[in-house]
Amino acid sequence: MIVCKFGGTSVGDRAAIERLVGIVHGRLASRPVVVVSAMSGVTNALLGLVEGTTGGDRESARTRLSEIAARHRSTAAELGVPDALEGVLEADVASIEAQLDSLADGAAVDPVRDAIVSYGELWSSHLVAAAMTVAGVPSRWIDVRTVMRTDARFGRAVVDRQVLDQAAPAVFGPIVEAGVVPVTQGFLGATADGRPTTLGRGGSDYSASLLGAALGAERVEIWTDVDGLMTADPRVVPNARLIEVASHHEAAELATFGAKVLHPSTYAPLIHARIPCVILNSFAPGRPGTTILAGASVLPIEGSPVRSIAWKKGITLINVRATGMLDAVGFLRKLFEAVERHGISVDVVATSEVSVSLTIDDPSRLEALCRDLGTLGDVTTASGRAIVAVVGIGLRTEPGIAGRIFSAVNPINIEVISQGASAINMTFVIREDQAVGAVQLLHREFFPEVAA
Ligand code: ADP
Ligand code: ASP
Ligand code: MG
Repeated sequence: MIVCKFGGTSVGDRAAIERLVGIVHGRLASRPVVVVSAMSGVTNALLGLVEGTTGGDRESARTRLSEIAARHRSTAAELGVPDALEGVLEADVASIEAQLDSLADGAAVDPVRDAIVSYGELWSSHLVAAAMTVAGVPSRWIDVRTVMRTDARFGRAVVDRQVLDQAAPAVFGPIVEAGVVPVTQGFLGATADGRPTTLGRGGSDYSASLLGAALGAERVEIWTDVDGLMTADPRVVPNARLIEVASHHEAAELATFGAKVLHPSTYAPLIHARIPCVILNSFAPGRPGTTILAGASVLPIEGSPVRSIAWKKGITLINVRATGMLDAVGFLRKLFEAVERHGISVDVVATSEVSVSLTIDDPSRLEALCRDLGTLGDVTTASGRAIVAVVGIGLRTEPGIAGRIFSAVNPINIEVISQGASAINMTFVIREDQAVGAVQLLHREFFPEVAA
């Protein structure tokens, strides 16, 4: 059995869905389970309805909702499955309308947001299942929420692996055994009392790996719109090279620091079961892609000690300078307790004897956090920052690497530097508007263009 996950652009329109059907058709002997994201742009559009409504613009939310529904309806017609969403779409649109109205009446936003956003994956999976059937690939639509039990942390729900490990084989096993392809949703879950939840943005990759582990899959395939994990985001560095083999830790490190091609948690369920994950291009299915293996030996690419450069914008830098009597041990403990209390995750930390710098990527609880940190010392913040991460082999032991990194990006002002304990990454914080330039300069330094 294999799990094949298709991202937003890989189900984005009729042509993409037809390519998907072709890919799955070619893999029937491996007994695929198909996991899909919402059509590209739909998650953002559904989130926009919620934000618009809470911002008071109920009318334009109504118009935009009918546009989203129309896109699904016309894709169904183009695929020759006009009835794929029969009885589903209309009832769901009415339900979304009612939930948007409940927001205007003061309902809690987080549960409603997850319920509304879940329709993206529900609808795309109906389209895909119907397109398969019409192409002669036996398929069955499965509501993933029957197995993906989560807690009630809406927007970033945590999956109950025990429930999943029991329920997934029971639900998917017999279908696969019967030679039918289950088509289900990434990103979605539900609480024990049936309320819809989501696993965090980009979470479909994580869903696929959770299902892969629960089903004891041979491998998990992540089908996307690039050739695999590259030496940098190919949108920023057009001549980025493919990384053919990566370790789970390396992929996780890159994903954490912004390589959006893979959700940072994807590796976790796979690592113990030693299930490989392969990233493939659904627009060019014949290409080899990137294979991510537990304990893979990572080799230099073109002799470079660096393997990839990732970056992430929208970062806020917080600086806390201890005042009064110094008690370094107590200071750090209290500082991280405050961070934990607010449920905030920190990406980069650098400490000196009297101050700590840390970065966060979700500023929604910044004010409350700074109030707490204010009891420990003087707090300053800087928003509009980016983290750049250079990931490679033995960066800590290789002499001269830091020098090469920092002279490559000179004269960009580096605000914080941190070196991961794993010896495979060096990260630094700069102004957001300088990040693309920095990534390009670093790529040129470590992967110089070979003259033709
Ligand atoms: P999907 O919808 O298939 O999940 P995403 O948009 O989430 O696709 O992720 C794919 C995108 O990740 C690519 O289009 C690419 O721009 C971006 N990306 C960022 N860093 C990297 C990298 N190092 N290697 C490959 N792609 C990257
Ligand atoms: N559709 C969801 C998102 O846009 C999940 C995913 O694509 O992985 O975040
Ligand atoms: Mg993604």
